[in-house]
Amino acid sequence: MKLLTDYRKTSTVAQLARAIQCAATRPWTLMEICGGQTHSILKFGLDQMLPPGLTLVHGPGCPVCVTPAELIDKAIAIALQPRVIFCSFGDMLRVPGSKHSLLDAKASGADVRVVYSPLDAVKLARENPQREVVFFAVGFETTAPANAMAAWQASQDKLSNFSLLVAQMLVPPAMRQILSSPNCRVQGFLAPGHVCTVEGYVEYERLAASFHVPIVVTGFEPVDLLEGILMVVRQLESGRADVENQYVRVVRREGNPAARAVVQEVFEVSDRHWRGVGLIPSSGLRLREAYRHLDAELRFPAAVTPAPRSELCLVGLVLQGLMKPSECPAFGKSCTPDQPLGAPMVSSEGACSAYYLYGRG
Ligand code: SF4
Repeated sequence: MKLLTDYRKTSTVAQLARAIQCAATRPWTLMEICGGQTHSILKFGLDQMLPPGLTLVHGPGCPVCVTPAELIDKAIAIALQPRVIFCSFGDMLRVPGSKHSLLDAKASGADVRVVYSPLDAVKLARENPQREVVFFAVGFETTAPANAMAAWQASQDKLSNFSLLVAQMLVPPAMRQILSSPNCRVQGFLAPGHVCTVEGYVEYERLAASFHVPIVVTGFEPVDLLEGILMVVRQLESGRADVENQYVRVVRREGNPAARAVVQEVFEVSDRHWRGVGLIPSSGLRLREAYRHLDAELRFPAAVTPAPRSELCLVGLVLQGLMKPSECPAFGKSCTPDQPLGAPMVSSEGACSAYYLYGRG
């Protein structure tokens, strides 16, 4: 078994960078979907090892970034209700809604708590029967199994004081949306390895065939990422458009059947609004009828006025790979991690925060 250091080995990285330079005879534009991949690419300077014509643009795979401001406003309205304990992963707390963040709500007295697993929120509900415990179920296919498990467990335990505010997104419909745009400039994708660990990559085969676009399921370490880029470039150079799996040590074509089964049991596919992008059909999950009583939106019908869009934040263009963060006029000026105008500047997986952190402005 390889150690983590093997996936960061300087000699292997240099060898792969040379192989990419030899393989790329023309300019190509590739998109890595996941914000975790974006951060690795910038942190390890992989973007600076590529030949000049090979451009990486950054995709919508940052769950915090794509959660609509209206939903954060709703989360705040619920958190401010008496008796509510509002639980969330830490990275949602500083993300601005239309005016405020969950951290602001906490400062105003709301009982907002950071948890490390949705099952911690279930435990809190069990321990506090007199309180209403709400978990902010944000994420892509990767978080869906744990969130589904929390709903299942709460249902089994007949907990009447636990609910989920669901913001579950799906990657393939967002890729379809990007590819269907007349402005699309993406010619190949690095698909997110962790998402495919759960769901497999059959859906990606359909995308590759429909849009004649190469897709390589890729991991997160420097060697993974450069190998993934090399595989996409080789496909583009030879006119192929297949799905290949670079992340074979983790991903199977059919994904993880047990994880998929619990997601299927609890959630069903629904339309979802993506921040800065708008409504994408069938791009999310909602609780099935049998679990709808756990839906915090139904339990706390907080009236929230649709958030006015910030003219300054060009998050939609960044998330669809139509603009690099450093090309946003607000980047590093009116938008910084201390004073973010949009979620990608504050999220630990946001492309704008990666550009700021690793000095690509
Ligand atoms: S730099 Fe700031 S304002 Fe510009 S797109 Fe990113 S988050 Fe939005």
